[in-house]
Amino acid sequence: MSGNTAILVLGDQLSWCHPALQQADPEETVVILAEVREEASYVRHNRHKIALLFSAMRHFALALAERGFQVEYYRFEDGLPSLLAACERALAQWQCERLLICEPGEYRLLEQMTGWAEVSGVPVEILTDSRFLSSRQDFSDWASGRKQLRMEYFYRDMRKRYGLLMDAGQPEGGKWNYDADNRTGWRSQCDVPARPQPVLDEVTREVIECVAAHFPDHPGDLSTFRWAVTHEAAQGELDWFCEHALPAFGTYQDALAEESPWLFHGLISMYLNCGLLEPLAVCEQVEAAYRRGHCSLSAAEGFIRQVLGWREYVRGLYWHHMPDYRERNALSAERPLPEWFWTGNTEMRCLSQALRQSLDLGYAHHIQRLMVIGNFALLAGLSVSEVCDWYLGVYLDAYEWVELPNTLGMALFADGGIMASKPYAASGKYIQKQGNHCKSCRYDPKRVTGEDACPYNSLYWHFINRHNALLSQNPRMGLILGGWRKRGDDDREAVLRWADRTLERIETL
Ligand SMILES: Cc1cc2nc3c(=O)[nH]c(=O)nc-3n(C[C@H](O)[C@H](O)[C@H](O)COP(=O)(O)OP(=O)(O)OC[C@H]3O[C@@H](n4cnc5c(N)ncnc54)[C@H](O)[C@@H]3O)c2cc1C
Ligand code: SF4
Repeated sequence: MSGNTAILVLGDQLSWCHPALQQADPEETVVILAEVREEASYVRHNRHKIALLFSAMRHFALALAERGFQVEYYRFEDGLPSLLAACERALAQWQCERLLICEPGEYRLLEQMTGWAEVSGVPVEILTDSRFLSSRQDFSDWASGRKQLRMEYFYRDMRKRYGLLMDAGQPEGGKWNYDADNRTGWRSQCDVPARPQPVLDEVTREVIECVAAHFPDHPGDLSTFRWAVTHEAAQGELDWFCEHALPAFGTYQDALAEESPWLFHGLISMYLNCGLLEPLAVCEQVEAAYRRGHCSLSAAEGFIRQVLGWREYVRGLYWHHMPDYRERNALSAERPLPEWFWTGNTEMRCLSQALRQSLDLGYAHHIQRLMVIGNFALLAGLSVSEVCDWYLGVYLDAYEWVELPNTLGMALFADGGIMASKPYAASGKYIQKQGNHCKSCRYDPKRVTGEDACPYNSLYWHFINRHNALLSQNPRMGLILGGWRKRGDDDREAVLRWADRTLERIETL
């Protein structure tokens, strides 16, 4: 009879490359998809993220049925509390003899799932997630025996392994990395192409109503929902990016713009992370654009480095160091998150814009996440766990495997340097160089003390001063520490006093 094997497909595994689906006989398989309370609310997920996943799940269920699969779909309104409850109900209903699962992206869930066989009374098999280009085992093999796990060396091995941007065994163009070409600041020097707005179908409109009704306290302005919810539409977004934005991607990768939340970025992480796009196909499409002369090598390499390098590397690091990684707090950062992290109501123009678009839309590009929001959190010593929960809740593409190393490791240096060779700490000067926010800000990026001084400036020196002992062990920090020590006592005192005052009135900045 049909329904002998059940496959649970999670909301972030909506892929035809799902390892259990790849080997399944539709006639003997029932696929379970479930919108459940626990997954939708274990942090305050952005409503855009919940709507994207619910709608993409409902569309995937329809596509599975078209391919002949039996589909057991539980809607949020069905009131199921957890994934286990959904599986138990489906297993009983279809009298299944075994349950296949693809390993989840979060440690929390993997821990739960390892106990499911005992509770549910049927064998549960957890399969390796073959959608990633480096398995957990591959990463452990690469990491074993190395003192430092630097992304650059991992990335070179991945380029060789997949033959991407390679030329007779050597990196295309003679260099592995064109990062130095990717740092141009933004002075509105060219037009940003307008992105097409996808048309929302009936399924998505229904989901948006459901999310608005059930998650009233979560961030996210659903009137701006603009995301693709099928494989075809996500591919359309990637095609648009390759055609219109990729040629300028490298040049403005690190830029900050007042007039655009995304500049020339891909806007594809949300699709890669839930299975609507596959990472190898994305890299191959970008390489093909370079090979036919549509973009420069630095644009193609810069982009492929993010997907083939950073994305796979952070996942490897996450599984390699969990569960301890989550508890790390190397700089003892404990200050509560200011209330304006949840509203964007701060007079710091760069921060206000980055926070507002993150809350309303669920998206901010890398430099906003790292050098505007993350940098402020680092300099002000904001609580690591509160900041990590904020990032996990707010972004459309956030899952712990990718959010945690980026936030705790890269932005907050709370892992003590596993991920980053030095803290990504910067004053207002960096933000001014990279973008055009300062022009319309009430603060002055050139001033360090006084009512008009950019808060990043005194906080930067406060950070350098309070972590002096730890930073002195890092040769890359020598110049900055030396400069700080050479300043006169009075000068240093005045800066530190002003920084203390800034921290005392952090809620009103
Ligand atoms: C503090 C912080 C938190 C972050 N949290 C997340 C998160 O929860 N989910 C997430 O997918 N990314 C996260 N990132 C990484 C990165 O900022 C986003 O992947 C990127 O902004 C997504 O937008 P995009 O698709 O337009 O990216 P693009 O700039 O167009 O880059 C292309 C792709 O490269 C990949 N990529 C780039 N950088 C990284 C990185 N550091 N780690 C992993 N993948 C990367 C993404 O898949 C991205 O879609 C975080 C970065 C920081 C600094
Ligand atoms: S002056 Fe400071 S706070 Fe204002 S936009 Fe510039 S860097 Fe941001």
